[in-house]
Amino acid sequence: MDTLSRWLGAPRGLLILFGTVVALPAATLVFLGVRLLQQDRELAHQRRAEVLEQASGRAVRALDDGLAAIQRRLSDPSWRPTEAPPGSVYVLMAGDQARTVPSSALAYYPVVPRMKEPPAAPFGELEAVEFKAQDLPKALELSRRLAGSADPLVRAGALLRQARILRKMGRAADALPIYGTLATFTTISINGSPADLVARKTRCLLLKELTRASELRQEAAALDADLDAGRWQLDRMSYQYVSTQLNEWLGPARQPHADSEGLAAAVEWLYQQWTRGSGSELSPNGARSVATNGTTVTVVWGSAEGRLPAFVGGHKYFEREWLAKARKAAEPAEVSLLAATDPGAPRAPVAADTLVARRSAADTDLPWTLIVTLGSDVDAARFEVRRRMLLAGLAAVLVLVAAGSYFVVRSRNREIALAKLQSDFIAAVSHEFRTPLTALRQFNELLDEAGDLTPEKRRTYYQAQTRATERLHRLVESLLDFGRMEAGKRPYTLQRIDAGALVNDVIQEFQREIEGRGFDVRCLVEPGEHPVDADAEALALAVWNLLDNAVKYSADRREIDVSVGRTSGEVSISVRDHGIGIPAGDEKRIFQKFVRLAAATSGGIKGSGIGLAMVQHIVAAHRGTLRVASVEHEGSTFTIVLPLQEQRSGSRGDDSGRVTNQSPDP
Ligand code: ADP
Repeated sequence: MDTLSRWLGAPRGLLILFGTVVALPAATLVFLGVRLLQQDRELAHQRRAEVLEQASGRAVRALDDGLAAIQRRLSDPSWRPTEAPPGSVYVLMAGDQARTVPSSALAYYPVVPRMKEPPAAPFGELEAVEFKAQDLPKALELSRRLAGSADPLVRAGALLRQARILRKMGRAADALPIYGTLATFTTISINGSPADLVARKTRCLLLKELTRASELRQEAAALDADLDAGRWQLDRMSYQYVSTQLNEWLGPARQPHADSEGLAAAVEWLYQQWTRGSGSELSPNGARSVATNGTTVTVVWGSAEGRLPAFVGGHKYFEREWLAKARKAAEPAEVSLLAATDPGAPRAPVAADTLVARRSAADTDLPWTLIVTLGSDVDAARFEVRRRMLLAGLAAVLVLVAAGSYFVVRSRNREIALAKLQSDFIAAVSHEFRTPLTALRQFNELLDEAGDLTPEKRRTYYQAQTRATERLHRLVESLLDFGRMEAGKRPYTLQRIDAGALVNDVIQEFQREIEGRGFDVRCLVEPGEHPVDADAEALALAVWNLLDNAVKYSADRREIDVSVGRTSGEVSISVRDHGIGIPAGDEKRIFQKFVRLAAATSGGIKGSGIGLAMVQHIVAAHRGTLRVASVEHEGSTFTIVLPLQEQRSGSRGDDSGRVTNQSPDP
């Protein structure tokens, strides 16, 4: 928090102005981006609505075309019912007759064919014995005899009675095979119902009575399968009666005959309309859908003189042909069709962003209600890509603005810090000047006012004046030098010198400077030569600066160790003190100009903050390196490492060994 407030420190007004200038366009940009996204979404929605509209139109047209084609075919005077595709029937009504092709597709029929019934006459005697005399064994005997008749009608009637008498006699098990034989009579009807259906139904009843469950299930299932396959042409009552019994025998496992029942219901409706004559709802060339048992059946009829040609499509046909056609036409939208007569048809719940169009039968003249839906996923992917791109763009702009602001504030802070460093520098330099100037003025006054000074005292004062003057001179020189170095205008005249000798000379002079301050400056020069290519004056200045710092930052332990050594290819000059040391992390900073650490300023230690920057400069000009190793409160070691000047054997270069080097760039 502290760092942040420092970082965002004064001048606050400027910062607020900057923030406003940057934040306003950024906020506008974000606002515009959001608006753009909204508009994009609305546009996408509109486009989807159009797509849905067009898809609905295509679906309606496809269905209309399909129906019109059928109606045209039906209205052709030469048209006769032919084999219809699975799940559908062709119907031709004329008079009170209704012909359906195929004849096995309906569960029941409006008009059923009449089959021959067994005559009553041959059974007069038998029935008298059975009912009046109630002599069942005799009646059984008579029925057996009649069952051997050559006439199938008589035989069927005899079998029926034989089985009935056996049941009356409590011999249900014996009646079973008799009904089995009767079930082979397929062209005879008994009381209006096919004889084989009556026989098989009664067998099931007997099996139930005899509690022969598995046989019952088997026979009932076979009967159900034949019923569904259209083996008998039954009227609705008979069909429903058998169906109810089958439901009872087979239980919930029985499959519904939705398709054939649907077709039958539609044909029955058509027949009713046709036979109603003038009250009929049938306009020429019409179509209608009927919802039965949760399925949709569609009736299409043409127009013809004196007869009614029609086509009835059951649920499966409806899905396979019409719905598939509509779906294909409506892509990418989804289509579902409801029977027009089905107002309460369940509507599947749709996702919130799914568009729905409802085309009622009244709107389209089709026999169905169309429900066309368009999921959001159609455009969602493209919209998502655009949205992501826009968001990424916005994020990039915001990041740029934030980064820009960061760098502006940082450079402003740097400027402020530099300005502070410079003003500190001026204060420090003025202070540096003041000390020798004060000394000079004091000694001048002493020399001037005290006339009776002894020659020794006078010499001491003059020497003190000289030292103060030298100090001033050094100060001015080093400032000028630093200025030249900064401007890259300090020429370096390199010549082969012995670093050991140079260091010894500097120490001697330095010791004179600090005489009487109680410092012990020890110098250890390894034996042998330490030749380097150096500008003696500049190198001496660098060593002097390091010594000066060692003294300034030595605190109580006033020992300074200087060493000159030589390793392979390098000569090193180290200045070591046992003073206040440098806090970890500040080792790099101290080489920047004007930088003075807190310990130096708060401890009132004089200095300008340019000494180490200058040493660094000089060492770099000699292609050397300056290193520091320090432990806070224990001391520091500064080491100048210069390339060793190898003895040249040939005549390459200047004979005097002098090389002139330009000052390195600041
Ligand atoms: P100054 O004139 O302040 O001594 P320098 O550039 O020579 O300027 O040094 C920069 C800063 O490095 C000093 O202000 C001081 O904080 C730190 N410093 C330099 N030498 C030493 C040392 N021998 N021991 C501890 N701190 C030092």
